Amino acid sequence: MKKTILTGLRPTGNLHLGHLFGACQNYLKLQDDYDFYLEIADVQALTDNFDQPKKVRINVNEITMDLLAVGLDPKKVNFFIQSQIKEIAELTVFYSNLVTIARLERNPTVKAEIAQKKDLFGHNGESITYGFLGYPVSQAADITTFDGELIPVGEDQLPLIEQCREIVRKFNSIYGDTLKEPQPILSETTRIKGLDGNEKMGKSLGNAIFLIDDEETVQKKIMGAVTDPHKIRKDDPANPDICMVYYYHKLVNSKENIQKVCTECKSGTRGCVGCKRELIEKMNEFLAPIKERRKYYEEHPKEVEEILKNGTKKAQEKATEQMEKIKKAMMIDY
Ligand code: SF4
Repeated sequence: MKKTILTGLRPTGNLHLGHLFGACQNYLKLQDDYDFYLEIADVQALTDNFDQPKKVRINVNEITMDLLAVGLDPKKVNFFIQSQIKEIAELTVFYSNLVTIARLERNPTVKAEIAQKKDLFGHNGESITYGFLGYPVSQAADITTFDGELIPVGEDQLPLIEQCREIVRKFNSIYGDTLKEPQPILSETTRIKGLDGNEKMGKSLGNAIFLIDDEETVQKKIMGAVTDPHKIRKDDPANPDICMVYYYHKLVNSKENIQKVCTECKSGTRGCVGCKRELIEKMNEFLAPIKERRKYYEEHPKEVEEILKNGTKKAQEKATEQMEKIKKAMMIDY
């Protein structure tokens, strides 16, 4: 029997290169060998977008099309919508007794996110909602509703898996051995830097190349990418290791060309404008098949709807089965 993998993405915007290299390429490798559940986490998206339901609704479809466009196969991956599986919400309530508020406040991932969302939660997190603070509990419910054994994550999300493992251990110690402790699978490339050199590429940071960006937008963004600031003239030798253009060449260019960029940059025989032009061409070539596949799904919205419907149906079957087991263990199987 294939092991179960569960992962989720929050539908708050289109996917960018950070998602592609940090997560999706890992999913592509895993989709053949596992029973793969991919959750479109609309309930979790609402924890910090509760006042923007339209944005979340629209992005459920947008993100599904992006994921199909990168090559995920709906015959191998069950795409499902989190809000449609009531067992997840039910289990979140049960688990809320198994974790303390202090433990959630100490979770490094939650702490980092609160710090990033000062506009919403205040400078010291004084306006944080009960729902946001509790989202790791909801994630534990996501994982265990489907008996998730392996969870593909980036390094920054490891504390969330640890939190889930703690909840599982506590549940099993009180109600008997019922749940499996999930194991993380770390992506080979966990984080992609932004065009501005920021350690993280993000929509809210304004430093991302999106998979749906048209050729002109890609050109504009790459022309504004951060390069070695010490290179003033075309023939100044420079350090490619502090240049974002070289960083992206390494993602989309051939081995041979990457070496050439590096050598010419260091020796001062390459100008930044030409170097950026070459990257624009390679980036657009790289994104073209993704955009081509996406166009197909944009033109076949019924197909996308069916993929979500069928995946959610299969997820529901698994959730019902698992919840019976859990309620029996908790003696609430009336
Ligand atoms: Fe960056 Fe290319 Fe300019 Fe070197 S030549 S600093 S790699 S843009």
